[in-house]
Amino acid sequence: MAPKSRISRRDLLKTAAVTGAAVATGQLPSPTPALAQAPQRPRSWHREADVVIIGSGAAGMPAAIVAREAGSSVIVVEAHNDIGGHAICSGANIPLGGGTSVQKRAGIVDNPDLVFQDLTDWSVVQPNGFPDYRYNDHEIIRAFADNCAQTFEFLVGHGVKFVNEKPDGRAGSAHGNSVPRQMHVWAGDWPQVQTGRPTDASVRATTSNGNGLMRPLEAAAKKAGVEFLLEHRMLAIYREEPHAGRVLGIQVRHNGNTLNIRARKAVIVATGGVSGNVNFRRMFDPRLTEEYCGLAGMPWSDQDASGELASMAIGASLWGLANFSSETGSGLTKPGKIGCQYGYVNLTWMPGSPVFAQARASGLRVGDWQNLVLVNMLGKRFYDETGDDFTGNQYNQINPYHPGSYLNAKNVKYNPNNFINAAMAGLGDGHNGGGPIWAIFDADAVSREQWTPEPPHVDLDAGFFFTANTVADLARKIVMKYQRVPMPPAALEATVARYNSFVDAGRDDDFGKPTPKYTIAKPPFYAAWATPVIHDTRGGLRINARCQVMDMNGAVIPGLFCGGESAGGFSMHGLARCLCQGYIAGRYAHTEKISS
Ligand SMILES: Cc1cc2nc3c(=O)[nH]c(=O)nc-3n(C[C@H](O)[C@H](O)[C@H](O)COP(=O)(O)OP(=O)(O)OC[C@H]3O[C@@H](n4cnc5c(N)ncnc54)[C@H](O)[C@@H]3O)c2cc1C
Repeated sequence: MAPKSRISRRDLLKTAAVTGAAVATGQLPSPTPALAQAPQRPRSWHREADVVIIGSGAAGMPAAIVAREAGSSVIVVEAHNDIGGHAICSGANIPLGGGTSVQKRAGIVDNPDLVFQDLTDWSVVQPNGFPDYRYNDHEIIRAFADNCAQTFEFLVGHGVKFVNEKPDGRAGSAHGNSVPRQMHVWAGDWPQVQTGRPTDASVRATTSNGNGLMRPLEAAAKKAGVEFLLEHRMLAIYREEPHAGRVLGIQVRHNGNTLNIRARKAVIVATGGVSGNVNFRRMFDPRLTEEYCGLAGMPWSDQDASGELASMAIGASLWGLANFSSETGSGLTKPGKIGCQYGYVNLTWMPGSPVFAQARASGLRVGDWQNLVLVNMLGKRFYDETGDDFTGNQYNQINPYHPGSYLNAKNVKYNPNNFINAAMAGLGDGHNGGGPIWAIFDADAVSREQWTPEPPHVDLDAGFFFTANTVADLARKIVMKYQRVPMPPAALEATVARYNSFVDAGRDDDFGKPTPKYTIAKPPFYAAWATPVIHDTRGGLRINARCQVMDMNGAVIPGLFCGGESAGGFSMHGLARCLCQGYIAGRYAHTEKISS
């Protein structure tokens, strides 16, 4: 029998005082890894609620609102000093279909069966021959399909507005070939976390971003009575026995104190995935070594695998792991900006952002990859610089489309793009990972791109940007944390000379770059960090249709739920699955029996 919780009024007051102080300081918590071992059940609890949710992003926020509005008391713990997770940094392009009111108004015929069919179609492949949906878990997709339209109406009902009147196929989430489902959230006039300022008035009516998604949901959650504990990092999940019995609550770290929060009904893991945890992600793909340090969405929030580790410590299983290393979609991306640590193409940290001090530089947005060469640690080119990311299946991409037919693959022109694979190939010296990739360019490229190669655009202090008057000196200057071997000056000189000869000849004999355009000849010369960016997590905890977490025997762990990027079995990028699974998890967490 579980002991009765003993929460004294003194404990509650103490916790409340600590909470208030931390929020007032506005300091980011220092990362503390989750426990790898199941913790002993606590002797006392500092706080309690029916449902305790870890993470306030795309999955956590709807879960909180749904559970609270159904009548459960809800505490959300959030490691960061603000809500939102990656969702608030996102472009908020959301493919929720299945027969939404907007689809109906636009005359688009969609239903849960069509969503299910689309997202389980084995026959859909990308131009590189990889499949989008083959490894999805059908139970999880069925639950998504059945709750897709409801999740959309839930968003609308809780203040989220959209800029498009009818769904389209624009933006990156693979969401099925049959009908348009993509909606784009109105950015609104909240200060953006990226800039600290509202979206420019001239484009506010047409711009989509995650502030417009998460701020209305935050307001709705607070209005409903959800309690947020910011700067509270979950360290461990308590279960009656290390690998048996129901889940009792969580341990959190806050301002140097360890607190225990009891969950009378359920704990929901909504921690956003594992891509920022080097050792965890390397279980799926050994190439993903530490130099891939520019995870999209960082430094606002990390994906440190804490939810997965804490759940595994009490017996949870992982699921659908093939999706993590599938060569489709935007899991691994070419950076859109160079010369900074966080170069994800669709996120620019500007001075004014509350996390700019950690981001340190905005980066130089690359308009034309003809303006530079990309080299590895040894100063050697490895691929056509204009090469791009893997692709993902969207509306009408295969046309004509025959569900479940061999004809679909015949309709896709085989056109492998190995840019990412070449960038991650490494030096052939027994080390994993591709090492840093550097963009090398000259003063003329700076003029053509209209770059300002100085802080705050580039990160000189942390070694993500270098400049010199000769190519050889540039190579000598590249000294930083992830450059584990010196770049031989003669090698970089030879690379630049050979590339310039390709420009003169109008043909790239090494990598087939279409008509190389510009020589690299006019000093000063520059080296800017251009290493691939990890975007999101596609494998996570094993869940069932109710988002209950399951153990290695396929049995439900009573009282433990999960949604979003921390949940496995679903290869779709981004918000739609996360929001929908939060919606499902909140509903079923509420219906759990109260533990004695
Ligand atoms: C720049 C960018 C653009 C994107 N654009 C799109 C888009 O246009 N469309 C789309 O569909 N998707 C997009 N995505 C992806 C989408 O934002 C994510 O897939 C989604 O937000 C993940 O939801 P989540 O709830 O799983 O995690 P998150 O939204 O990241 O939330 C997880 C939360 O958990 C907190 N947390 C983690 N560990 C702990 C802990 N131990 N204790 C307490 N709290 C913890 C984190 O701080 C975070 O707040 C984008 C992502 C990024 C980064």
